[in-house]
Amino acid sequence: MTDATDTDGDAGVDTAVDEQTDTGGEGGPHAVGGGSDGGVVVLSDVTKTYEGGATVEALSGVSLSLPEGSYTAVMGPSGSGKSTLLNLVGGLDTPTAGTVRLDGRDLAALSEPQRARVRGRTVGFVFQTFNLMPRLTAAENVALPLVFQGVDRAARRERAESLLADVGLGDRTGHEPAELSGGQRQRVAIARALAADPALLLADEPTGNVDTDTGDRIMAEFADLHAAGNTVLLVTHERRIAERANRVVHLRDGELREIESV
Ligand code: ADP
Ligand code: MG
Repeated sequence: MTDATDTDGDAGVDTAVDEQTDTGGEGGPHAVGGGSDGGVVVLSDVTKTYEGGATVEALSGVSLSLPEGSYTAVMGPSGSGKSTLLNLVGGLDTPTAGTVRLDGRDLAALSEPQRARVRGRTVGFVFQTFNLMPRLTAAENVALPLVFQGVDRAARRERAESLLADVGLGDRTGHEPAELSGGQRQRVAIARALAADPALLLADEPTGNVDTDTGDRIMAEFADLHAAGNTVLLVTHERRIAERANRVVHLRDGELREIESV
């Protein structure tokens, strides 16, 4: 891949983004977990409805604050709104009602290119479906976020290879996603999310397809990122994994039922 990917048609975005930095009174009557503290992420009374054949309320009035440097796990049955919550926090989608603020900016008030820019700078995202670029090798996929950060090619390659080695894929750096197993693709996606040392790591079932040893290795990477002062929000089915976090948020039927301290 080439540096031509570093598109720069975003003049004016910074100004527009910076105008969004006024944080209003967050929280309100439903605030949970210190909603008015201006956390890195603040959800205020967030509802997300999908209109399809039938209307589905995937999230109902969720308020949650993620303080800077916090480590939070989200648990809940399948269909309880976990992925929807992560997508809203990462600015991949916008709420039907309520607000999601990232670093004080209301994500819904930004244009899609602006949201993409904020994401690129701030967020590392491990998708449940991995979302790797099919024509790029594992190393190129991992290096991709660094292209947008202006890191030079040699440093990108070194970083990508080191991260892939950390997740046990040091011998697969030149493979394309189609040549990897599901669990290996997941590890590439995790290495990519960690590449830019994101201030906010969002991970949707990051240990869902891997063996226990690999899962432990992934969790050690997340612990390192957290120990360095970054904020982590992770979705998991596994209690054992959730207990690596400081707090566990329990979702059920789109509602936040409990925030448990670990
Ligand atoms: P979880 O990740 O906890 O399994 P999701 O957030 O993926 O749950 O989904 C919550 C609910 O919203 C489910 O009932 C799901 O079917 C529905 N849903 C999720 N995404 C969409 C979509 N794009 N269109 C319609 N319904 C959706
Ligand atoms: Mg999900």
